[in-house]
Amino acid sequence: MSLDYATIHLCNALLNLSYGGMLLALWYRRRETHLLLWAASLLLVSAAVYGFTLTRDSVGIALLLTAVSINISLTWAGARALDGRPPFHWTLAAAPVATFIGHVVLASIGARTGANIFTTALLAINVAVTGLYFLRQGHGFARKAVGWVLLSYAPVYVVSLFLDLAYPDSRASSILILASDFVLNNAFVVGLFAIMEEQARDELRRLAVTDQLTGALNRVGLMGKFPDGHLLNARALLLADLDHFKSINDTYGHTGGDVALKTFVDRASELLGKDEFIARIGGEEFGILLATSDVNDACWRADQIRQRLAGEPVVWSGRRMALTTSIGIAVASGSEDLLAVMTRADDALYRAKRGGRNRVAA
Ligand code: GH3
Ligand code: MG
Ligand code: MG
Repeated sequence: MSLDYATIHLCNALLNLSYGGMLLALWYRRRETHLLLWAASLLLVSAAVYGFTLTRDSVGIALLLTAVSINISLTWAGARALDGRPPFHWTLAAAPVATFIGHVVLASIGARTGANIFTTALLAINVAVTGLYFLRQGHGFARKAVGWVLLSYAPVYVVSLFLDLAYPDSRASSILILASDFVLNNAFVVGLFAIMEEQARDELRRLAVTDQLTGALNRVGLMGKFPDGHLLNARALLLADLDHFKSINDTYGHTGGDVALKTFVDRASELLGKDEFIARIGGEEFGILLATSDVNDACWRADQIRQRLAGEPVVWSGRRMALTTSIGIAVASGSEDLLAVMTRADDALYRAKRGGRNRVAA
């Protein structure tokens, strides 16, 4: 098999041009910073790969290697932007700047081998650090896959360096890099799209189970906590219904009522543990799941929530809203499903309302 050096470069450059163009078109539509950074990264590397066929001059080579290093840093910056962080940090410039200066200085004193070792080591480190960023930050299969793909570039650079040292007059090292790049770069770009798809799916899932007004779970979210026939174990369910909420709306308007709903969720959440959660299951009705199977403990915790609301008026628009809630409690007995426990909690809530409101009942 004969591999034509210039043709492989051209194909690789065209492939990166096409991926870069695709990401640029997506950025034009969505205006998301990570898309622009990744597009810039692939377009830059496309130009650099083609550039290697045009020059053997040491400053030219230093510039092209710097462009490859910038491409890695832009990949990292894109990932930071995707994570909602400021994309640029001075450490991202360190490898490209060092690559350029190191290569020019070492080449100017005739240390061609030294220049190669230095720049290759920097490229390997930069790509490995970027790969580790993908692996360590965030979650999801695509994210991990992209991290491993980037990490795989590091040994390729190291092997190519040894080939360069062992066979300085052959193009084996360049061909190894280009051939590996065909495999890794395709996996990398497909991975980037998969990361974005994974993230969009996670966000849709989150929205589907979240109440938009209060940020608590919604009814679907509450049900989703009980797969496998909704069995409950060592759990107490509280049903809280805000008292006289119609008159809160009448007095303070719907916006004031909305603030009251959010405040209740915020205050109740402060009193919940890691495995406990609150869900808005109707207009001003909330389900709260506590990690206890002791009815006295559940009553005490429910009363804390009740007092947290009643104890401090909600200040809104310069006015003070006095809010109270009634809470019904049911402790799950091993074999019951969520609906049965809810019915019992609802009966208890009814008793709390009948008993005069602003109280708990089990
Ligand atoms: P009770 O003490 O018996 O519970 O009296 P109540 O006035 O709270 O009675 P009810 O449960 O019938 O009233 C619920 C009210 O909640 C009616 C509705 O206008 C209001 N509501 C439902 N959803 C929302 C919402 O998203 N925002 C606001 N501001 N009000 C809502
Ligand atoms: Mg009510
Ligand atoms: Mg109600």
